[in-house]
Amino acid sequence: MKKPDKCPFCGGRARVEPIGRYDGGEKFKVRCVECLTVSYSYDSPEEAIEAWNRRHNDGCSQSKDLQR
Ligand SMILES: [Zn+2]
Repeated sequence: MKKPDKCPFCGGRARVEPIGRYDGGEKFKVRCVECLTVSYSYDSPEEAIEAWNRRHNDGCSQSKDLQR
């Protein structure tokens, strides 16, 4: 499995976390362990990681795109 890139905002470590179950399916998000920025929720860890890494590569600033 891929690993999430470092946090685009603080450079801290990021990791995938399961966030419980919705409609019978588990969801996952990526969270920075330093500044606690989180990604949206996705159906699989891979999707969450890809979304996180995409944002990282876009070089976005911290915004509504990432929920805290
Ligand atoms: Zn961070």
